[in-house]
Amino acid sequence: MTHSINLGFPRIGAHRELKKAVESYWKGAMSQEDLIAEGKKLRLTHWNLQKNSGLSSIPANDFSFYDQVLDMICLLGCVPERYDFSGGNVDLDTYFAMARGSQKDGQDVTAMEMTKWFDTNYHYIVPEFSKDQKFKLSSTKIFDEYAESVEAGIQTHPVIIGPISFLKLGKREDNFTDCRLTLLDNLLPAYEEIITKLADQGAMAIQIDEPYLAMDLKENYDEVYREVYACLRKANPDIRILVTTYFDGLRDNLETAFALDVNAIHVDLRRAPEQFEECLEQAAKTGKALSLGLIDGRNIWKNDLSHSMDIIEQAIEKLGAGNVMIAPSCSLLHTPFDLKNETKLDPALKNWMAFATQKLDELAILQKGATEGRDAIKPELTASDAVQKDRATSERIHNKSVQDRLNAVTPDMAKRKSNFATRQKLQHEKLGLPKFPTTTIGSFPQTQEIRKARAAFKKGTLNEAEYETAMKDEVKRVVDYQESVGLDVLVHGEPERNDMVEYFGEQLDGFTFSKLGWVQSYGSRCVKPPIIYGDISRPTPMTVKWAEYAQSLTDKKMKGMLTGPITILQWSFVRDDQPESLTAKQISLAIRDEVSDLEKAGIDIIQIDEAAIREGLPLRKEDWKNYLDWSVEAFRICSSGVEDSTQIHTHMCYSEFNDMIDAIAKMDADVISIETSRSQMELLDAFQSYKYPNEIGPGVYDIHSPRIPNTAEMVDLMEKAVAVIPAEQLWVNPDCGLKTRGWAEVEPALKNMVDAAKEMRQKVA
Ligand code: GLN
Ligand code: ZN
Repeated sequence: MTHSINLGFPRIGAHRELKKAVESYWKGAMSQEDLIAEGKKLRLTHWNLQKNSGLSSIPANDFSFYDQVLDMICLLGCVPERYDFSGGNVDLDTYFAMARGSQKDGQDVTAMEMTKWFDTNYHYIVPEFSKDQKFKLSSTKIFDEYAESVEAGIQTHPVIIGPISFLKLGKREDNFTDCRLTLLDNLLPAYEEIITKLADQGAMAIQIDEPYLAMDLKENYDEVYREVYACLRKANPDIRILVTTYFDGLRDNLETAFALDVNAIHVDLRRAPEQFEECLEQAAKTGKALSLGLIDGRNIWKNDLSHSMDIIEQAIEKLGAGNVMIAPSCSLLHTPFDLKNETKLDPALKNWMAFATQKLDELAILQKGATEGRDAIKPELTASDAVQKDRATSERIHNKSVQDRLNAVTPDMAKRKSNFATRQKLQHEKLGLPKFPTTTIGSFPQTQEIRKARAAFKKGTLNEAEYETAMKDEVKRVVDYQESVGLDVLVHGEPERNDMVEYFGEQLDGFTFSKLGWVQSYGSRCVKPPIIYGDISRPTPMTVKWAEYAQSLTDKKMKGMLTGPITILQWSFVRDDQPESLTAKQISLAIRDEVSDLEKAGIDIIQIDEAAIREGLPLRKEDWKNYLDWSVEAFRICSSGVEDSTQIHTHMCYSEFNDMIDAIAKMDADVISIETSRSQMELLDAFQSYKYPNEIGPGVYDIHSPRIPNTAEMVDLMEKAVAVIPAEQLWVNPDCGLKTRGWAEVEPALKNMVDAAKEMRQKVA
């Protein structure tokens, strides 16, 4: 029989129950017992949902209170020294301290670094290894959760991150990255113990995620991979091991993967359909089962079931039914929970979509088709074919005037009038800012009152005028505060924006929105990505009246605030019926109009956030150039329609720039602000060695932690910056927007930041 398997399910809950529980625990409003009980309840609900859908193999240990990599760190006991972990099992408060930093009971520790999970908008906690890191099982979570599933009468397969991927996800204190593999000898006994224990508990199968098999690896990895998996096999000869790869194709690692001493290999056939035939060959040759990642775990469109059946039938013919598994392309963590709850979506659009729960149904349908033949699922296939046809021809999607405008784009539209040096001079004259100008990244705390007002406005209990007044009051409060603390370039604070992408999507044609389509971004934080379904255009100005109003309140310079085309694209569910480059260009033209309207309204500084440009980088180097070419062009098209004296800023978070500094420079923003505080300015190296010519604001305030940095540590960071970048090029700002923070933290932190800038002006006179 052909099996269907899931690789991971959204843990946040249909109504973000996990977010709410975790956050109230952090606030002290929920006991640890209750939090643990809530986790258990969610796991059970999700397992039952999967069981009832008819899935044959359900994952366990895909649940997490914060992050699955942090769970692995605890499981393997590699807790960095600063958390004073003294052995035994890592307790929940230490766990959260590692995730978020902690300032309580005399403890003052920073959080561990966080970074994007491959090219998704999910962030994981980066493992930190000491030079000869030891590993010792220090969490019972995976064993407890497996036992819990058994007790509930659900046979699950526990999921872990494979040893090589785990090491590669981390960083070693000496930064000698490839040396991480020297830690394998220390690490493998711990993995063997995990496998032995699970097998002893009765687990029949284990899923080991090795996403790095779908990335660029060096040659010697072939041998390393084989040895590692031979070693794991020895831990228990009977447990079925499924090695999963996702987000890209195996390409040059294909033979390595199939040579591993494991039972099955999972491949992503959404991202890399072209690898199918070769995988089939290798699976046949090596006698392995092949898990077909057919259902898109990264997007919300219904599967083309007929096409999937073609693939499945081919696989069965070659490998036999028992050696074929039907799966989502990756964990469903990256898709929203359930389309059923979406009562407001346009039914025609809704009919094109499938969220995580619906994807389980698709898996079940395909499994039935695989087992009983196409006739057994005839109605489902007919419906699926109709959906595909409807999307291909719908007038909702295809807009002629957008097409015409795209065709009229000229190379000049992607160029500023003059070079940076000329623009810089004009901008300095016009803006008259001090050395080390201070600014923020845009948002200020999204307070309870702001959220309440927005909720009331959405519900209709607050009318538009009342809502606008409430937001204007907030803008005024933010502007007054910034003046009082002495910031140089002000922002309006973005109170009217629920989210930096959704806000724009709501005002652009071609987008639609779910009500509850939340996806975890980091920890308890979720985002609700807009859904791009059709050609994009801007019917009316989107931000101008807010910027104008904010500017009217102050003599200081107000920075206009926009989200860039790549970030809008990257943080949305995108159409899968045209290349992303084309969608990006459509968004770019819409933003270009907005930039020009802001300039006309007297806004001299305009920031276009491209927080997501790096995470959009293809996972394989050979694909980078093409992506960077079109994404840089999209940024330039939206930012180049202005006068030389108008200063264009851009902002990027959680980015490493070493390998794309050339593209960053080509974007030619006058000022770029980046996230650098957690890495102690490490990220600036790239700008130094490249001799990056434009201005830079390296973040000095880690806004992802509730910790309040003091002036001395920010001066310290700025001194590190001055050591590598000329002072004339430097700005002083936080790592990112402040919307997730409270005023109680932001006020003292920004005051300290302004003081730090003043100190720097004295020091570097
Ligand atoms: N302007 C946005 C803000 O301050 C930028 C957020 C981001 O880069 N993620 O919230
Ligand atoms: Zn940011």
